[in-house]
Amino acid sequence: MATKKLRVGVCGFFIECNRWAPVSTREMFGAALDLAGDRLQAELERTQPRTLPDCAGFVAQMNRLGPWEPVALRMAAAQPGGPVEHAFFVELREDIEARLLAAGPLDAVFISSHGAALTTESDDPDGELFERIRALVGPALPVLAVFDLHCNVSERMTRALSAFVAYRCNPHTDLRERGEEAARHLHALLARGPGVVEMVRLPFVPPATAQLVAPGTPYADLIALGQTRVAGPILNVSLCGGFALADCDKCGFSVVVTARDGARDAAATLALEMAGIVWRSRQKFVSKLTPLASAVQAALEAGQPGAAPLILADVADNPGAGGGGNTVTLLQALLAAGVRGALLGVFTDPALASEAHERGVDADFTARLNRDSGAAPFAAALQHDARVLALSDGNFVGVRGMVKGSQLSMGPSALLDLGGVRVAVISERQQLLDPAQLTVLGVDLTSVRTLVVKSRGHFRAAFDEFAPPERILEVDCPGLTTPNLKTLAWTRMPRPVYPIDEHASWNP
Ligand SMILES: [Zn+2]
Repeated sequence: MATKKLRVGVCGFFIECNRWAPVSTREMFGAALDLAGDRLQAELERTQPRTLPDCAGFVAQMNRLGPWEPVALRMAAAQPGGPVEHAFFVELREDIEARLLAAGPLDAVFISSHGAALTTESDDPDGELFERIRALVGPALPVLAVFDLHCNVSERMTRALSAFVAYRCNPHTDLRERGEEAARHLHALLARGPGVVEMVRLPFVPPATAQLVAPGTPYADLIALGQTRVAGPILNVSLCGGFALADCDKCGFSVVVTARDGARDAAATLALEMAGIVWRSRQKFVSKLTPLASAVQAALEAGQPGAAPLILADVADNPGAGGGGNTVTLLQALLAAGVRGALLGVFTDPALASEAHERGVDADFTARLNRDSGAAPFAAALQHDARVLALSDGNFVGVRGMVKGSQLSMGPSALLDLGGVRVAVISERQQLLDPAQLTVLGVDLTSVRTLVVKSRGHFRAAFDEFAPPERILEVDCPGLTTPNLKTLAWTRMPRPVYPIDEHASWNP
């Protein structure tokens, strides 16, 4: 007897939204990833697709598990930014609905999701999308989604899903594995459904810098503990630290448990138990920022002969959480102190990159940083004598860490020498995630004494060979993505919430 060929709808909506960052537009999705129908279908069939690796992992594992056919709907993703232009979200959601209706009978739906989206009019677009999908496919069809562990979870989201799978690594190096896991759960649910998802959200918003998953961190210990509870009907335990900077009523550490066989009570009991354990460990999630003056001193020392390389992470200007990647507080301080051997990478300034390309390699000029920034938050202007050291189209293939093997672009890029401090200027806002972003500009990392990164932590997966964890300082500078949560003007965050309000309590 021939095995039935499964038909699985594939779609996605992927963005992390910082309440205070500039609006994320249709064009930003268009520039990053926005594919539908045949174009998405073709991408799903490629070995190195432009979709996120969770989708590629899902497809690859489904291929291994038996005959099936992906039915491409629509998938849109953008760099972290401000709330999404609402009209674009509505168009995307309606398009996914229309394609779902036109797809004919399906056996399941897979969603590549981030889970911390906002729009200019909605604080839970993810929930709205999942609810509409559920309404169209009916109550029984498995609908599975993969999430960033920085997702902000609502019951509207979990009620619409049959399986909820969050990354377990931060830096996020396990997207592909989580997509593979979702494929295995799909087969488990087809054999032993229905899948049910239960969640508990805590009044606890760990700062992003305290959410590192590395040996000995509290988050790693909790995630490992959660994995010991995956047995019997429990398919997945997701511990989602969340994204506080969304400033919405979904903010808070969420424990999300998926079970098969409709085992809702088992899922709910485990979610509550794990939430209690997380709550009791909340005081371990501390952010240890280095004052600017101490960071500059460390960079001066790292410039001395024989000193070990140093990384200064400008965590408050992380494009990976909606930052502009263009603040100059740290750069200015390093220049003023006369630091030698430092390299700032990568700094987003399309106008400066373009001017460097016009002037050419070896040109000396007055670099005007942030000339176009206008009212961009925190992006002060800075002028400094500079020489163009190298130019690049900014295309690179990742060699280590989160984007290893991916073909990516920074747009027209230039390496400038500001005297003691080199700056890798790019056109397309992004974090430093890979050494290849610097080597395409001719940088030999052995010549760098202090590497300054506009990133919260994902760089760690790529620059572990450059500097060990104890030589990484997270610097306290102003910016849109500051981990100093007490300094922000919250308007929608449910209060009291720990650690913004130290007296916050939780009543299960
Ligand atoms: Zn994340």
